Amino acid sequence: MWRYATVVMILAVGFLGCARRDTEISREYMASESSEQKKEIHLPEGTGKQEECVLCGSKSLWYYYHKKDSIGVINLANGQISDLEILVYDDQGVPRKPVGRSSRFNSDGKRYVHISPMSERGICNLTLSWDSEAYLDLEEIAPFYCRECMEKITSLDKSQADKLEDRRCPFAMIDFVTGELYSLNGIVTPCFIRDYYLHFDFSDRAIEGVVVYAPPNLQKAETFPIPSHILIIHSGM
Ligand SMILES: [Zn+2]
Repeated sequence: MWRYATVVMILAVGFLGCARRDTEISREYMASESSEQKKEIHLPEGTGKQEECVLCGSKSLWYYYHKKDSIGVINLANGQISDLEILVYDDQGVPRKPVGRSSRFNSDGKRYVHISPMSERGICNLTLSWDSEAYLDLEEIAPFYCRECMEKITSLDKSQADKLEDRRCPFAMIDFVTGELYSLNGIVTPCFIRDYYLHFDFSDRAIEGVVVYAPPNLQKAETFPIPSHILIIHSGM
């Protein structure tokens, strides 16, 4: 019995260790990016007024979405936001019953967002792509954003700015709760945004992603699932 308990404990510690390491990697990445970002921030000229900002202004989509405990994709070229809808809410931010598989497509004619949430399972697949002339142009988008939001955008992957030059991804992930932006420039995968686990495969002007709602309930022993092969070991003792 003690051997059985030890095996369970070792496996449990192993699983929790993996989960903790992933979280720590995510935090370390964010921390290192923050320190890099503080080195220098080059802002393009001509940023707009805060009240008209397409990210934080009162008429922006984020202003509408921020009542929802969700994340989404933002097209930085025009501020259009696509909700992943893994957790479903009504317009007032009240949770609604999960639905089966659905599919949505958003485009500005040069940049394409295809989202397929399966909210009953807490998963969303997404495919992003863009035309060869549709990379992000920081000078071009500056008038749409206030100074603070342009600082956020120009700070994405600041340490890799020389490498990216004029090949910046026109999309970023956005946390509806905090308004924080997360890079999709291919520097890091996988990562967490709060309880959402994200993994992306990057290729030329295309990104395939899987996002899973993964709250840390595995850390509660009473809900930890015992795999069937552990029971087989126990019966042999
Ligand atoms: Zn703003």
